[in-house]
Amino acid sequence: MANNEELFKKIISHAKEYGFVFPSSELYDGLSAVYDYGPFGVELKNNIREYWWKSMVQYHENIVGLDAAIFMHPTVWKASGHVDAFSDPMIDNRDSKKRYRADVLIEDHIQKTEDKISKEVEKARGRFGETFDEKMYRETNPRVKEYQDKINAVKNRFYPALERNDLADVKLLIEELGIVCPVSGTKNWTEVRQFNLMFSTQMGSVNEDANEIYLRPETAQGIFVNFLNVQKTARMKIPFGIAQTGKAFRNEIVARQFLFRMREFEQMEMQFFVRPGEEMKWYEYWKEERMKWHLSLGIPASKYRFHDHDKLAHYANAAADIEFEFPIGFKEIEGIHSRTDFDLSAHQKFSGRKIQYFDTEQNEGYVPYVVETSIGLDRTFLAVLSHAYREEKLEDGSDRVVLGIPAKLAPIRVAVLPLVKKDGLPEKAREIMDKLMYDHRCFYEEKDTIGRRYRRMDALGTPYCITIDHQTLQDNTVTIRDRDTMLQERITMDEVSAVVTKKIRG
Ligand code: ATP
Repeated sequence: MANNEELFKKIISHAKEYGFVFPSSELYDGLSAVYDYGPFGVELKNNIREYWWKSMVQYHENIVGLDAAIFMHPTVWKASGHVDAFSDPMIDNRDSKKRYRADVLIEDHIQKTEDKISKEVEKARGRFGETFDEKMYRETNPRVKEYQDKINAVKNRFYPALERNDLADVKLLIEELGIVCPVSGTKNWTEVRQFNLMFSTQMGSVNEDANEIYLRPETAQGIFVNFLNVQKTARMKIPFGIAQTGKAFRNEIVARQFLFRMREFEQMEMQFFVRPGEEMKWYEYWKEERMKWHLSLGIPASKYRFHDHDKLAHYANAAADIEFEFPIGFKEIEGIHSRTDFDLSAHQKFSGRKIQYFDTEQNEGYVPYVVETSIGLDRTFLAVLSHAYREEKLEDGSDRVVLGIPAKLAPIRVAVLPLVKKDGLPEKAREIMDKLMYDHRCFYEEKDTIGRRYRRMDALGTPYCITIDHQTLQDNTVTIRDRDTMLQERITMDEVSAVVTKKIRG
Protein backbone atom coordinates (compact mmCIF):
# COMPACT_ATOMS: atom_id res chain seq x y z
CA MET A 1 0.00 0.00 0.00
CA ALA A 2 1.15 3.52 -0.76
CA ASN A 3 2.67 5.69 1.92
CA ASN A 4 0.20 7.58 4.04
CA GLU A 5 0.24 10.89 2.28
CA GLU A 6 -0.24 9.17 -1.03
CA LEU A 7 -2.97 7.01 0.47
CA PHE A 8 -4.74 10.12 1.77
CA LYS A 9 -4.65 11.64 -1.73
CA LYS A 10 -6.05 8.45 -3.21
CA ILE A 11 -8.91 8.41 -0.72
CA ILE A 12 -9.74 12.04 -1.54
CA SER A 13 -9.79 11.37 -5.26
CA HIS A 14 -11.77 8.15 -4.80
CA ALA A 15 -14.32 10.10 -2.73
CA LYS A 16 -14.73 12.55 -5.59
CA GLU A 17 -14.73 10.07 -8.46
CA TYR A 18 -17.37 7.85 -6.85
CA GLY A 19 -19.74 10.60 -5.73
CA PHE A 20 -18.95 10.73 -2.01
CA VAL A 21 -17.43 14.19 -1.51
CA PHE A 22 -16.97 17.17 -3.84
CA PRO A 23 -15.19 20.45 -3.15
CA SER A 24 -17.83 23.12 -2.51
CA SER A 25 -18.66 25.38 -5.48
CA GLU A 26 -16.21 23.49 -7.62
CA LEU A 27 -17.43 25.32 -10.74
CA TYR A 28 -15.81 28.41 -9.24
CA ASP A 29 -12.65 26.55 -8.19
CA GLY A 30 -13.98 25.63 -4.77
CA LEU A 31 -14.18 27.31 -1.39
CA SER A 32 -11.41 26.56 1.04
CA ALA A 33 -12.19 23.84 3.61
CA VAL A 34 -15.85 23.56 2.61
CA TYR A 35 -17.17 20.35 1.04
CA ASP A 36 -20.37 18.96 -0.45
CA TYR A 37 -21.50 15.37 0.02
CA GLY A 38 -22.50 13.59 -3.19
CA PRO A 39 -25.14 10.89 -3.77
CA PHE A 40 -23.23 8.12 -1.99
CA GLY A 41 -21.55 10.38 0.57
CA VAL A 42 -24.87 11.69 1.82
CA GLU A 43 -26.13 8.12 2.33
CA LEU A 44 -23.04 7.16 4.34
CA LYS A 45 -23.24 10.36 6.36
CA ASN A 46 -26.95 9.85 7.08
CA ASN A 47 -26.30 6.26 8.14
CA ILE A 48 -23.53 7.28 10.55
CA ARG A 49 -25.74 10.01 12.02
CA GLU A 50 -28.67 7.64 12.37
CA TYR A 51 -26.49 4.98 14.00
CA TRP A 52 -25.20 7.54 16.51
CA TRP A 53 -28.72 8.81 17.18
CA LYS A 54 -30.07 5.33 17.78
CA SER A 55 -27.15 4.42 20.04
CA MET A 56 -27.58 7.56 22.12
CA VAL A 57 -31.30 8.37 22.09
CA GLN A 58 -33.17 5.19 21.17
CA TYR A 59 -31.08 2.84 23.30
CA HIS A 60 -30.99 5.10 26.38
CA GLU A 61 -34.26 5.80 28.14
CA ASN A 62 -32.72 8.77 29.90
CA ILE A 63 -31.49 10.62 26.79
CA VAL A 64 -33.77 12.75 24.64
CA GLY A 65 -33.16 14.73 21.46
CA LEU A 66 -33.25 18.36 20.44
CA ASP A 67 -32.79 20.36 17.25
CA ALA A 68 -31.89 23.92 18.17
CA ALA A 69 -31.42 26.70 15.60
CA ILE A 70 -28.00 27.64 14.26
CA PHE A 71 -28.60 31.32 15.00
CA MET A 72 -28.76 32.15 18.68
CA HIS A 73 -29.01 35.30 20.76
CA PRO A 74 -25.57 36.98 20.67
CA THR A 75 -25.37 37.07 24.48
CA VAL A 76 -25.24 33.25 24.45
CA TRP A 77 -21.70 33.47 23.07
CA LYS A 78 -20.70 36.12 25.56
CA ALA A 79 -21.93 33.92 28.42
CA SER A 80 -20.27 30.78 27.06
CA GLY A 81 -16.92 32.52 26.82
CA HIS A 82 -16.66 32.20 23.06
CA VAL A 83 -16.59 35.94 22.31
CA ASP A 84 -13.62 36.46 24.61
CA ALA A 85 -11.82 33.15 24.49
CA PHE A 86 -12.70 31.08 21.42
CA SER A 87 -9.54 31.86 19.58
CA ASP A 88 -6.37 30.15 18.46
CA PRO A 89 -2.88 31.65 18.52
CA MET A 90 -1.66 32.02 14.95
CA ILE A 91 1.74 32.69 13.45
CA ASP A 92 2.90 33.26 9.86
CA ASN A 93 6.11 32.30 8.17
CA ARG A 94 7.34 35.30 6.19
CA ASP A 95 9.12 33.25 3.56
CA SER A 96 6.46 30.68 2.65
CA LYS A 97 3.58 33.05 3.54
CA LYS A 98 1.95 30.03 5.23
CA ARG A 99 -0.10 30.45 8.37
CA TYR A 100 0.07 28.04 11.30
CA ARG A 101 -1.47 27.54 14.71
CA ALA A 102 1.34 28.34 17.13
CA ASP A 103 0.04 25.77 19.64
CA VAL A 104 0.00 23.06 16.98
CA LEU A 105 3.61 23.78 16.01
CA ILE A 106 4.64 23.28 19.63
CA GLU A 107 2.42 20.23 20.16
CA ASP A 108 3.85 18.61 17.02
CA HIS A 109 7.32 19.25 18.41
CA ILE A 110 6.35 17.53 21.67
CA GLN A 111 4.84 14.64 19.71
CA LYS A 112 8.11 14.10 17.84
CA THR A 113 9.96 13.74 21.14
CA GLU A 114 7.23 11.39 22.41
CA ASP A 115 7.66 9.30 19.26
CA LYS A 116 11.38 9.02 20.03
CA ILE A 117 10.54 7.72 23.51
CA SER A 118 8.12 5.17 22.05
CA LYS A 119 10.83 3.93 19.69
CA GLU A 120 13.27 3.45 22.58
CA VAL A 121 10.61 1.62 24.58
CA GLU A 122 9.77 -0.70 21.70
CA LYS A 123 13.44 -1.45 21.08
CA ALA A 124 13.91 -2.31 24.74
CA ARG A 125 10.78 -4.46 24.76
CA GLY A 126 12.29 -6.45 21.90
CA ARG A 127 15.59 -6.85 23.80
CA PHE A 128 14.16 -7.82 27.19
CA GLY A 129 11.24 -9.90 25.99
CA GLU A 130 8.69 -11.02 28.57
CA THR A 131 10.57 -9.70 31.58
CA PHE A 132 10.30 -6.11 30.30
CA ASP A 133 9.00 -3.64 32.88
CA GLU A 134 7.95 -0.59 30.86
CA LYS A 135 7.24 1.67 33.82
CA MET A 136 10.62 1.01 35.39
CA TYR A 137 12.38 1.45 32.03
CA ARG A 138 10.71 4.81 31.44
CA GLU A 139 11.71 5.97 34.91
CA THR A 140 15.32 4.86 34.79
CA ASN A 141 16.66 4.81 31.22
CA PRO A 142 18.85 7.93 30.91
CA ARG A 143 17.99 8.68 27.28
CA VAL A 144 14.24 8.29 27.83
CA LYS A 145 14.47 10.42 30.96
CA GLU A 146 16.29 13.10 29.03
CA TYR A 147 13.55 13.17 26.38
CA GLN A 148 10.85 13.23 29.06
CA ASP A 149 12.55 16.11 30.88
CA LYS A 150 12.61 18.06 27.64
CA ILE A 151 8.91 17.44 27.09
CA ASN A 152 8.08 18.50 30.64
CA ALA A 153 10.16 21.65 30.30
CA VAL A 154 8.30 22.63 27.11
CA LYS A 155 4.91 21.92 28.65
CA ASN A 156 5.74 23.79 31.86
CA ARG A 157 6.63 26.83 29.87
CA PHE A 158 4.05 26.63 27.07
CA TYR A 159 0.78 26.02 28.94
CA PRO A 160 1.28 28.78 31.53
CA ALA A 161 2.29 31.16 28.71
CA LEU A 162 -0.97 30.39 26.91
CA GLU A 163 -2.86 30.74 30.18
CA ARG A 164 -1.37 34.23 30.71
CA ASN A 165 -1.98 34.99 27.03
CA ASP A 166 1.74 35.77 26.87
CA LEU A 167 2.03 35.40 23.10
CA ALA A 168 5.52 36.92 22.99
CA ASP A 169 6.77 34.05 25.12
CA VAL A 170 5.01 31.51 22.86
CA LYS A 171 6.91 32.99 19.93
CA LEU A 172 10.18 32.91 21.87
CA LEU A 173 9.58 29.26 22.68
CA ILE A 174 9.01 28.43 18.99
CA GLU A 175 12.32 30.11 18.19
CA GLU A 176 14.20 28.47 21.05
CA LEU A 177 12.94 25.02 20.07
CA GLY A 178 14.27 25.67 16.57
CA ILE A 179 10.89 24.96 14.96
CA VAL A 180 11.03 25.65 11.24
CA CYS A 181 8.25 26.12 8.69
CA PRO A 182 7.67 22.75 7.01
CA VAL A 183 7.31 24.50 3.64
CA SER A 184 10.15 27.08 3.56
CA GLY A 185 12.35 25.39 6.14
CA THR A 186 13.07 28.78 7.75
CA LYS A 187 12.54 30.31 11.20
CA ASN A 188 11.42 33.66 9.79
CA TRP A 189 8.30 33.91 11.96
CA THR A 190 5.91 36.83 12.57
CA GLU A 191 4.54 37.71 16.01
CA VAL A 192 1.93 35.35 17.47
CA ARG A 193 -1.63 36.79 17.47
CA GLN A 194 -4.97 35.55 18.78
CA PHE A 195 -7.60 34.92 16.13
CA ASN A 196 -11.30 34.44 17.04
CA LEU A 197 -12.77 31.48 15.17
CA MET A 198 -16.42 32.55 15.13
CA PHE A 199 -18.10 33.63 11.91
CA SER A 200 -20.47 36.55 12.29
CA THR A 201 -23.23 37.99 10.17
CA GLN A 202 -25.93 40.67 10.40
CA MET A 203 -29.52 40.02 11.36
CA GLY A 204 -32.14 42.66 10.55
CA SER A 205 -33.21 44.45 7.39
CA VAL A 206 -32.13 48.00 8.09
CA ASN A 207 -28.46 48.56 8.66
CA GLU A 208 -28.93 50.67 11.78
CA ASP A 209 -31.14 48.03 13.43
CA ALA A 210 -28.99 45.12 12.42
CA ASN A 211 -27.43 43.08 15.16
CA GLU A 212 -24.23 41.19 14.80
CA ILE A 213 -24.94 37.53 15.38
CA TYR A 214 -22.75 34.47 15.17
CA LEU A 215 -22.97 31.19 13.34
CA ARG A 216 -22.74 28.69 16.19
CA PRO A 217 -19.23 27.28 16.63
CA GLU A 218 -20.62 24.30 18.59
CA THR A 219 -24.06 22.77 19.01
CA ALA A 220 -23.73 22.44 22.79
CA GLN A 221 -25.01 25.91 23.72
CA GLY A 222 -28.36 25.20 22.05
CA ILE A 223 -28.72 22.36 24.54
CA PHE A 224 -27.73 24.44 27.58
CA VAL A 225 -30.13 27.30 26.90
CA ASN A 226 -32.94 24.74 26.45
CA PHE A 227 -32.08 22.80 29.61
CA LEU A 228 -35.24 23.76 31.51
CA ASN A 229 -37.53 23.52 28.46
CA VAL A 230 -36.40 19.98 27.80
CA GLN A 231 -36.18 18.83 31.40
CA LYS A 232 -39.71 20.01 32.16
CA THR A 233 -41.49 18.96 28.95
CA ALA A 234 -39.85 15.54 28.70
CA ARG A 235 -40.10 15.11 32.55
CA MET A 236 -36.47 14.14 32.83
CA LYS A 237 -34.83 13.22 36.10
CA ILE A 238 -31.13 13.60 36.77
CA PRO A 239 -29.00 11.90 35.57
CA PHE A 240 -30.23 12.48 32.01
CA GLY A 241 -28.90 13.58 28.65
CA ILE A 242 -29.89 15.79 25.73
CA ALA A 243 -28.56 14.85 22.30
CA GLN A 244 -28.33 16.94 19.18
CA THR A 245 -26.74 16.77 15.76
CA GLY A 246 -26.19 19.73 13.51
CA LYS A 247 -23.93 22.13 11.69
CA ALA A 248 -21.24 24.16 13.41
CA PHE A 249 -18.97 26.79 11.90
CA ARG A 250 -15.38 27.74 12.68
CA ASN A 251 -13.11 30.04 10.76
CA GLU A 252 -10.18 27.65 11.17
CA ILE A 253 -6.72 29.15 10.70
CA VAL A 254 -5.24 26.11 9.07
CA ALA A 255 -7.71 24.08 7.10
CA ARG A 256 -6.08 21.92 4.50
CA GLN A 257 -6.82 18.39 5.60
CA PHE A 258 -9.96 17.49 3.65
CA LEU A 259 -12.87 16.54 5.93
CA PHE A 260 -10.66 16.55 9.01
CA ARG A 261 -10.69 20.32 9.43
CA MET A 262 -13.55 22.12 7.76
CA ARG A 263 -14.98 25.58 8.20
CA GLU A 264 -18.54 24.24 8.07
CA PHE A 265 -18.98 20.85 9.67
CA GLU A 266 -21.41 18.76 11.63
CA GLN A 267 -21.28 17.70 15.25
CA MET A 268 -23.12 15.02 17.16
CA GLU A 269 -23.22 16.04 20.80
CA MET A 270 -24.76 14.77 23.98
CA GLN A 271 -24.78 16.74 27.20
CA PHE A 272 -25.35 14.56 30.27
CA PHE A 273 -26.64 16.38 33.37
CA VAL A 274 -25.58 14.96 36.72
CA ARG A 275 -25.48 15.75 40.44
CA PRO A 276 -22.58 17.97 41.47
CA GLY A 277 -19.83 15.72 42.81
CA GLU A 278 -20.83 12.75 40.63
CA GLU A 279 -19.34 14.12 37.44
CA MET A 280 -16.10 12.13 37.52
CA LYS A 281 -17.99 8.84 37.75
CA TRP A 282 -20.05 9.78 34.69
CA TYR A 283 -17.02 11.15 32.88
CA GLU A 284 -15.32 7.74 33.20
CA TYR A 285 -18.55 6.00 32.22
CA TRP A 286 -18.98 8.01 29.01
CA LYS A 287 -15.33 7.70 28.06
CA GLU A 288 -15.73 3.95 28.08
CA GLU A 289 -19.16 3.92 26.41
CA ARG A 290 -18.04 6.13 23.58
CA MET A 291 -14.95 4.03 22.92
CA LYS A 292 -17.24 0.97 22.72
CA TRP A 293 -19.35 2.79 20.16
CA HIS A 294 -16.33 3.44 17.95
CA LEU A 295 -15.26 -0.19 18.17
CA SER A 296 -18.79 -1.26 17.19
CA LEU A 297 -18.12 0.32 13.78
CA GLY A 298 -15.98 -2.72 13.07
CA ILE A 299 -12.70 -0.80 13.21
CA PRO A 300 -9.97 -2.51 15.30
CA ALA A 301 -9.01 -1.15 18.72
CA SER A 302 -5.42 -0.53 17.55
CA LYS A 303 -6.71 2.38 15.45
CA TYR A 304 -7.97 4.25 18.52
CA ARG A 305 -6.41 5.72 21.62
CA PHE A 306 -7.31 8.11 24.42
CA HIS A 307 -5.50 11.36 24.89
CA ASP A 308 -6.05 12.97 28.28
CA HIS A 309 -5.74 16.74 28.22
CA ASP A 310 -2.98 18.45 30.18
CA LYS A 311 -4.37 21.85 29.41
CA LEU A 312 -8.05 22.16 30.16
CA ALA A 313 -10.47 24.52 28.44
CA HIS A 314 -11.87 27.30 30.61
CA TYR A 315 -15.06 25.31 31.28
CA ALA A 316 -13.67 21.86 32.07
CA ASN A 317 -12.34 19.98 35.11
CA ALA A 318 -11.42 16.88 33.10
CA ALA A 319 -11.17 16.22 29.38
CA ALA A 320 -10.03 13.47 27.03
CA ASP A 321 -10.03 12.97 23.31
CA ILE A 322 -10.65 9.75 21.50
CA GLU A 323 -8.06 9.78 18.75
CA PHE A 324 -8.26 7.81 15.52
CA GLU A 325 -5.36 6.85 13.31
CA PHE A 326 -6.22 8.74 10.12
CA PRO A 327 -3.82 8.49 7.17
CA ILE A 328 -2.46 11.83 8.49
CA GLY A 329 -1.73 10.24 11.88
CA PHE A 330 -3.51 9.84 15.21
CA LYS A 331 -5.90 12.79 15.62
CA GLU A 332 -8.95 13.74 17.64
CA ILE A 333 -12.27 12.36 16.47
CA GLU A 334 -14.31 12.90 19.66
CA GLY A 335 -13.99 14.87 22.87
CA ILE A 336 -15.37 13.82 26.27
CA HIS A 337 -15.44 16.76 28.63
CA SER A 338 -16.50 17.25 32.20
CA ARG A 339 -17.83 20.81 31.85
CA THR A 340 -18.80 21.32 35.52
CA ASP A 341 -21.69 23.77 36.02
CA PHE A 342 -19.83 26.38 33.97
CA ASP A 343 -22.33 26.75 31.14
CA LEU A 344 -25.60 26.59 33.05
CA SER A 345 -24.26 28.95 35.72
CA ALA A 346 -23.03 31.38 33.08
CA HIS A 347 -26.43 31.43 31.35
CA GLN A 348 -28.09 31.88 34.72
CA LYS A 349 -25.90 34.90 35.36
CA PHE A 350 -26.16 36.51 31.93
CA SER A 351 -29.90 35.91 31.47
CA GLY A 352 -30.81 36.79 35.05
CA ARG A 353 -33.10 33.71 35.11
CA LYS A 354 -32.77 30.86 37.53
CA ILE A 355 -31.57 27.60 35.95
CA GLN A 356 -31.92 25.03 38.69
CA TYR A 357 -32.99 21.46 39.03
CA PHE A 358 -34.91 20.32 42.09
CA ASP A 359 -33.70 16.90 43.11
CA THR A 360 -36.62 15.22 44.89
CA GLU A 361 -34.46 12.39 46.20
CA GLN A 362 -32.05 14.78 47.87
CA ASN A 363 -34.73 17.36 48.55
CA GLU A 364 -32.58 20.23 47.29
CA GLY A 365 -32.15 22.39 44.23
CA TYR A 366 -28.86 22.88 42.38
CA VAL A 367 -27.27 23.80 39.07
CA PRO A 368 -26.46 20.41 37.49
CA TYR A 369 -22.97 19.43 36.38
CA VAL A 370 -22.43 18.35 32.79
CA VAL A 371 -20.46 15.63 31.06
CA GLU A 372 -20.31 16.13 27.32
CA THR A 373 -19.57 13.75 24.48
CA SER A 374 -18.86 15.64 21.27
CA ILE A 375 -18.03 13.84 18.06
CA GLY A 376 -17.49 15.21 14.56
CA LEU A 377 -19.72 13.58 11.96
CA ASP A 378 -17.38 14.49 9.11
CA ARG A 379 -14.34 13.15 10.96
CA THR A 380 -16.22 9.91 11.64
CA PHE A 381 -17.09 9.75 7.94
CA LEU A 382 -13.41 10.19 7.12
CA ALA A 383 -12.43 7.51 9.64
CA VAL A 384 -14.90 5.01 8.18
CA LEU A 385 -13.91 5.85 4.63
CA SER A 386 -10.16 5.74 5.17
CA HIS A 387 -10.31 2.51 7.15
CA ALA A 388 -12.54 0.97 4.46
CA TYR A 389 -10.33 1.85 1.47
CA ARG A 390 -8.38 -1.15 0.14
CA GLU A 391 -6.51 -1.89 -3.06
CA GLU A 392 -6.39 -5.59 -3.86
CA LYS A 393 -4.62 -7.75 -6.37
CA LEU A 394 -6.89 -10.58 -7.44
CA GLU A 395 -5.96 -14.15 -8.34
CA ASP A 396 -6.51 -13.51 -12.06
CA GLY A 397 -3.94 -10.71 -11.91
CA SER A 398 -6.45 -7.86 -12.07
CA ASP A 399 -6.79 -5.11 -9.45
CA ARG A 400 -9.77 -3.88 -7.56
CA VAL A 401 -10.43 -0.99 -5.22
CA VAL A 402 -12.92 -1.91 -2.54
CA LEU A 403 -14.49 0.00 0.31
CA GLY A 404 -14.99 -2.43 3.18
CA ILE A 405 -17.65 -0.24 4.84
CA PRO A 406 -19.63 -2.13 7.52
CA ALA A 407 -22.91 -3.32 5.97
CA LYS A 408 -25.04 -1.34 8.43
CA LEU A 409 -23.42 1.93 7.28
CA ALA A 410 -22.93 1.21 3.57
CA PRO A 411 -24.39 3.86 1.22
CA ILE A 412 -26.02 1.13 -0.85
CA ARG A 413 -26.76 -2.12 0.88
CA VAL A 414 -27.89 -4.19 -2.05
CA ALA A 415 -27.29 -3.92 -5.77
CA VAL A 416 -29.80 -5.69 -7.99
CA LEU A 417 -28.24 -6.66 -11.31
CA PRO A 418 -29.90 -8.51 -14.21
CA LEU A 419 -27.16 -10.37 -16.08
CA VAL A 420 -28.42 -9.05 -19.43
CA LYS A 421 -30.90 -6.38 -20.46
CA LYS A 422 -33.26 -8.85 -22.18
CA ASP A 423 -34.96 -12.26 -21.93
CA GLY A 424 -37.22 -11.10 -19.11
CA LEU A 425 -34.30 -10.72 -16.62
CA PRO A 426 -34.91 -7.00 -15.95
CA GLU A 427 -38.53 -7.79 -15.03
CA LYS A 428 -37.41 -10.41 -12.51
CA ALA A 429 -34.86 -7.96 -11.12
CA ARG A 430 -37.61 -5.37 -10.64
CA GLU A 431 -39.56 -7.91 -8.59
CA ILE A 432 -36.57 -8.16 -6.24
CA MET A 433 -36.23 -4.37 -6.07
CA ASP A 434 -39.88 -4.16 -5.02
CA LYS A 435 -39.24 -6.64 -2.24
CA LEU A 436 -36.15 -4.94 -0.83
CA MET A 437 -36.38 -1.21 -1.42
CA TYR A 438 -38.64 -0.42 1.53
CA ASP A 439 -36.18 -1.87 4.03
CA HIS A 440 -32.81 -1.20 2.42
CA ARG A 441 -31.16 1.36 0.19
CA CYS A 442 -30.95 -0.57 -3.09
CA PHE A 443 -29.39 0.20 -6.43
CA TYR A 444 -30.56 -1.17 -9.76
CA GLU A 445 -28.16 -1.36 -12.69
CA GLU A 446 -28.35 -3.18 -16.02
CA LYS A 447 -25.66 -1.35 -18.01
CA ASP A 448 -22.15 -2.80 -18.62
CA THR A 449 -20.78 -6.31 -18.18
CA ILE A 450 -21.51 -7.97 -14.87
CA GLY A 451 -17.79 -7.89 -13.98
CA ARG A 452 -17.62 -4.11 -14.36
CA ARG A 453 -20.79 -3.66 -12.38
CA TYR A 454 -19.33 -5.74 -9.52
CA ARG A 455 -16.17 -3.59 -9.54
CA ARG A 456 -18.22 -0.42 -9.36
CA MET A 457 -20.23 -1.78 -6.44
CA ASP A 458 -16.98 -2.79 -4.69
CA ALA A 459 -15.68 0.74 -5.12
CA LEU A 460 -18.89 2.14 -3.59
CA GLY A 461 -18.71 -0.29 -0.68
CA THR A 462 -21.91 -2.19 -1.52
CA PRO A 463 -21.80 -5.33 0.64
CA TYR A 464 -24.20 -7.48 -1.41
CA CYS A 465 -24.97 -7.86 -5.12
CA ILE A 466 -27.93 -9.91 -6.25
CA THR A 467 -27.68 -11.19 -9.81
CA ILE A 468 -30.58 -12.43 -11.87
CA ASP A 469 -29.52 -14.83 -14.64
CA HIS A 470 -31.12 -17.32 -17.01
CA GLN A 471 -31.34 -19.95 -14.31
CA THR A 472 -33.62 -17.57 -12.40
CA LEU A 473 -36.23 -18.02 -15.13
CA GLN A 474 -36.14 -21.78 -14.65
CA ASP A 475 -36.00 -22.25 -10.87
CA ASN A 476 -36.57 -18.80 -9.34
CA THR A 477 -33.11 -18.68 -7.76
CA VAL A 478 -30.62 -15.78 -7.83
CA THR A 479 -27.03 -15.38 -6.72
CA ILE A 480 -25.97 -13.21 -3.81
CA ARG A 481 -22.36 -12.06 -3.94
CA ASP A 482 -20.37 -10.98 -0.92
CA ARG A 483 -18.21 -7.88 -1.48
CA ASP A 484 -15.33 -8.95 0.75
CA THR A 485 -14.98 -12.63 -0.16
CA MET A 486 -16.40 -12.22 -3.69
CA LEU A 487 -18.08 -15.60 -3.15
CA GLN A 488 -21.55 -16.19 -4.53
CA GLU A 489 -24.29 -18.43 -3.24
CA ARG A 490 -27.60 -19.34 -4.83
CA ILE A 491 -30.76 -18.64 -2.92
CA THR A 492 -34.43 -18.60 -3.88
CA MET A 493 -36.14 -15.33 -4.68
CA ASP A 494 -38.46 -15.86 -1.70
CA GLU A 495 -35.50 -16.01 0.65
CA VAL A 496 -33.79 -12.85 -0.60
CA SER A 497 -35.34 -10.44 1.86
CA ALA A 498 -34.71 -12.59 4.94
CA VAL A 499 -31.15 -13.49 3.88
CA VAL A 500 -30.18 -9.86 3.25
CA THR A 501 -31.69 -8.68 6.54
CA LYS A 502 -29.91 -11.43 8.46
CA LYS A 503 -26.56 -10.67 6.85
CA ILE A 504 -26.85 -6.96 7.54
CA ARG A 505 -27.79 -7.46 11.18
CA GLY A 506 -24.72 -9.71 11.42
P1 ATP B 1 -9.34 20.40 17.27
O1 ATP B 1 -8.45 20.44 18.48
O2 ATP B 1 -9.01 19.31 16.30
O3 ATP B 1 -9.54 21.73 16.63
P2 ATP B 1 -11.48 20.73 19.07
O4 ATP B 1 -10.90 20.18 20.34
O5 ATP B 1 -11.55 22.18 18.87
O6 ATP B 1 -10.79 20.02 17.82
P3 ATP B 1 -14.15 20.25 19.90
O7 ATP B 1 -14.44 21.66 20.12
O8 ATP B 1 -13.95 19.35 21.08
O9 ATP B 1 -12.92 20.10 18.89
O10 ATP B 1 -15.27 19.65 18.95
C1 ATP B 1 -15.77 18.34 19.06
C2 ATP B 1 -15.58 17.56 17.78
O11 ATP B 1 -16.02 18.31 16.65
C3 ATP B 1 -14.14 17.22 17.47
O12 ATP B 1 -13.74 16.05 18.17
C4 ATP B 1 -14.17 16.99 15.98
O13 ATP B 1 -14.56 15.66 15.67
C5 ATP B 1 -15.24 17.95 15.52
N1 ATP B 1 -14.61 19.13 14.92
C6 ATP B 1 -14.13 20.22 15.56
N2 ATP B 1 -13.63 21.12 14.69
C7 ATP B 1 -13.80 20.58 13.46
C8 ATP B 1 -13.50 21.02 12.14
N3 ATP B 1 -12.95 22.20 11.93
N4 ATP B 1 -13.82 20.21 11.10
C9 ATP B 1 -14.39 19.01 11.29
N5 ATP B 1 -14.70 18.55 12.51
C10 ATP B 1 -14.42 19.31 13.59
